[in-house]
Amino acid sequence: MNSVRGVRDVLTLKPVPSVICQRVPTSYVTASSPELLPVSSCYGDRLASACPGSSALGTSWTRGGRGLLWDMAEEEDGLSEERLLFLPDRHVRYFQRSLQALPEQCASLETSRLTIAFFALSGLDMLDSLHVVDKAEIIEWIYSLQVLPTEDESNLDHCGFRGSSCLGLLFNPSKGHGVYHPYDSGHIAMTYTALSSLLILGDDFSRVHKQACLAGLRALQLTDGSFCAVPEGSENDMRFVYCASCICYLLDDWSGMDMAKSIDYIRRSMSYENALGQGAGLEAHGGSTFCGIASLCLMGKLEEVFSDKELDRIRRWCMLRQQNGFHGRPNKPVDTCYSFWVGATLTLLDIFKYTNLERNRNFILSTQDRLVGGFAKWPDSHPDALHAYFGICGLSLMGESGIQEVHPALNIQRWLLRKPFGSNCEHVGLDKLVTKECVT
Ligand SMILES: [Zn+2]
Repeated sequence: MNSVRGVRDVLTLKPVPSVICQRVPTSYVTASSPELLPVSSCYGDRLASACPGSSALGTSWTRGGRGLLWDMAEEEDGLSEERLLFLPDRHVRYFQRSLQALPEQCASLETSRLTIAFFALSGLDMLDSLHVVDKAEIIEWIYSLQVLPTEDESNLDHCGFRGSSCLGLLFNPSKGHGVYHPYDSGHIAMTYTALSSLLILGDDFSRVHKQACLAGLRALQLTDGSFCAVPEGSENDMRFVYCASCICYLLDDWSGMDMAKSIDYIRRSMSYENALGQGAGLEAHGGSTFCGIASLCLMGKLEEVFSDKELDRIRRWCMLRQQNGFHGRPNKPVDTCYSFWVGATLTLLDIFKYTNLERNRNFILSTQDRLVGGFAKWPDSHPDALHAYFGICGLSLMGESGIQEVHPALNIQRWLLRKPFGSNCEHVGLDKLVTKECVT
């Protein structure tokens, strides 16, 4: 039990005192170049927490006198051979460190700690380096974040996983009933990243209260087919449709959602630009397009929902997002994470091979922090856990040596796709991508 408490402490995102920060390599805690002025945390666009498209996208840094939209295509030119070297060992240490302590400015991520842990764990898994963590201890910690049904099951529609132990509830590694607390509820992105993390760590889901998770998920769906993040009410958009689809897929039970309504929501989110927005009538966006297309792939409905002509139009919109790396919308700067969001969409639509792989790789590597590891969204910016993870996933889509193959719809290493609850996965509509590694 002591060792379990130890993990809880290790994974606590307590603000790091500035005295300690000063011992960390400078570029980890302060701007790496004096001309860069932080205007908000790069974690602002964490997946809200696990998905793209948050309102904070594209607001992290400004450059003295140059503005946000400087042409990063220029940045790639003249990159030395040395800068184009992928440094996996540095990234392993970066993810290890992310599981132990984060800079003080990340304290606001306290309630999303599970998602940060997912980026680190899946990142380590992609680098085939999970041996550097104590899997059993982290599994106990994740289970302690499950919102369990109380004895009378009166809180079923609040079940799922919470992001951290911020409420101060007693440690309970999912081995008994839950304890009622008026502010205790699961968060859809935390449930998704908790299940993914358990799968990555080799857990068999035996302590996942499947029916409670599904009941909690059903309670989050709105009449238009979209999902909120928490039962108390929140934004509702395509990010959470994707989280819901991943949860149902991982639990191998689609009773957690009204699939027809969600499909209708995705269809109605098709904008006049021929890609998907966060909802009906909203601007097309690389993140929401990924969430919608990946959700349909997980449901096995992609080709039922969109005609060949519509899919071709989506392909065209996505192809046009490449500058050197990818951006999420026209006239926005390229950003490391879109090499995954848009790259994975193009992979699912089977035309990623027609993109310019070399320029994409060069851009991603231009955002690599060669000193402390990790990737930033832009060159010469701070690395953060989200971009570190999606930088690696973006490289994985291109077959970078030393990185495992990422599953483009589920966003975890591909061969993990055996189903914890035992059925085969041919129904997901990704047969050519999935069937061969489906170990049942
Ligand atoms: Zn980004």
